Amino acid sequence: MKARINPPVYLASAPIACWRCGAEMPAVAIIAPDVPEAEGEICTLSDIRSLPGPMRTFIQKRFPTFRLKYSKTTQSEYYASTCPNCGVLSGDFYLHGEPGAPFFPTTEEEAARLTVEEIPVAGPMDVEAGLGMGAAHLILKNAKRKAAEPSVGGDSGK
Ligand SMILES: [Zn+2]
Repeated sequence: MKARINPPVYLASAPIACWRCGAEMPAVAIIAPDVPEAEGEICTLSDIRSLPGPMRTFIQKRFPTFRLKYSKTTQSEYYASTCPNCGVLSGDFYLHGEPGAPFFPTTEEEAARLTVEEIPVAGPMDVEAGLGMGAAHLILKNAKRKAAEPSVGGDSGK
């Protein structure tokens, strides 16, 4: 579905083992606390069909393996977490769909395995994605935080 998301927007990730070759790969998701259509629920985006350019660029700079890929399971193209070694995708259903999945933590301990980082976006953005609700508050509360990058031209350079 098409949805408009307001800042802040977070990039969530966790290292997982590729189901096919066993290599370590990053599982990646986007968390959006302010989605007007979700009426106050914090959303985890999955099955992402389209992403605004600046967001895509930011995410792919961190995780080049998060890319548009055709899924035989869903018979559609979406931004999927793929393996850097063998290229296979780990489906969003596997990553989001069931309690205990990387992006569907049910305990603080499970949520603490994730890292979140704010994606610097200036204003509302349009995405085409599925909106998952119910687990993201646990992620935002317990995941490791990666500090936001200093903005370009800031005073942090020494
Ligand atoms: Zn693999």
